[in-house]
Amino acid sequence: MDFLRPATWAEALALKAERPEATPIQGGTDVMVEINLDKGRPAALLDLNPVAELRDWSVGDDGRLRVGAGVSYTRLIEELGDRLPGLAQASRTVGSPQIRNRGTVAGNLGAASPAGDSHPPLLATGAVVEAASVRGVRMIPIGEFYTGVKRNALEPDELIRAVRVPPADGPQYFSKIGTRNAMVIAVCSFSLALHPSRRAVGTGIGSAAPTPRRAPEAEEFLAGELDWDGRAPVSEDTARRFGELVARAAAPIDDVRGTRDYRVHALAVMARRTLGWAWRDYGRAI
Ligand SMILES: Cc1cc2nc3c(=O)[nH]c(=O)nc-3n(C[C@H](O)[C@H](O)[C@H](O)COP(=O)(O)OP(=O)(O)OC[C@H]3O[C@@H](n4cnc5c(N)ncnc54)[C@H](O)[C@@H]3O)c2cc1C
Repeated sequence: MDFLRPATWAEALALKAERPEATPIQGGTDVMVEINLDKGRPAALLDLNPVAELRDWSVGDDGRLRVGAGVSYTRLIEELGDRLPGLAQASRTVGSPQIRNRGTVAGNLGAASPAGDSHPPLLATGAVVEAASVRGVRMIPIGEFYTGVKRNALEPDELIRAVRVPPADGPQYFSKIGTRNAMVIAVCSFSLALHPSRRAVGTGIGSAAPTPRRAPEAEEFLAGELDWDGRAPVSEDTARRFGELVARAAAPIDDVRGTRDYRVHALAVMARRTLGWAWRDYGRAI
């Protein structure tokens, strides 16, 4: 196996163009598990850790936070938790402190597991993946990024440079069900983002379909029902209907982590709960 170590981003892109079969490695918390378990031996590893510019985050011209592919979950939580609360909550549930010190959102996107914890908040907030190759930069809306089970929209010569996420303009929550509290892959998960400035609702469903996905009908229903100006409590009927529509948007299967029926039930519960938490915060923010 070749081990490629570019020192700069330009060098990384040139190497990926030359060796499209090379597997990028950032934190290695997915890649090294695959290699250790002998699930396939890449012809080459492309180590992105020496590329210093990937470790930065910044605020882009469009006001979005541009989180470099090398920013760990730990740094995201500590440095961006106030501006990206949904993504930070999801990040806190990833693995253990050691995994969060190494693992990245870009690696989660690269792996594109339906159970990856960063996906629901990225969907709920309308993130954009900044992909790059020697051919140029491509902005991929998050809804177009996941193309199948563990498949994504990257071309063989492309690398993720950063993920661009709008700072929260309202309450955001993430909820995850696992068989225990820590070090657990989601049985299913859900994220909710309220966008009061445009009277909109964002959702993201994890581990309950071949790819992470939104629940557009539920978003539209809830945005029309919420009393954005008066901040009146959400009725039980509205909360129940929202939960039903979220559950209906999923397409779960029975597998080792849970049954289809349990996932459908749990999603409706998580949707109602996150709505309760988010609306309580919104009511307090007068
Ligand atoms: C013990 C343990 C517990 C875990 N718990 C969780 C959990 O609770 N929730 C969860 O979501 N995940 C979990 N994971 C999986 C893993 O930690 C995450 O998916 C993490 O986000 C991967 O990030 P990384 O930087 O380590 O990626 P890597 O392992 O370096 O890479 C992952 C994939 O992304 C690709 N890649 C990496 N960087 C780029 C780039 N810049 N451009 C293009 N492709 C790239 C790689 O080629 C690979 O396919 C766990 C893993 C372990 C070992």
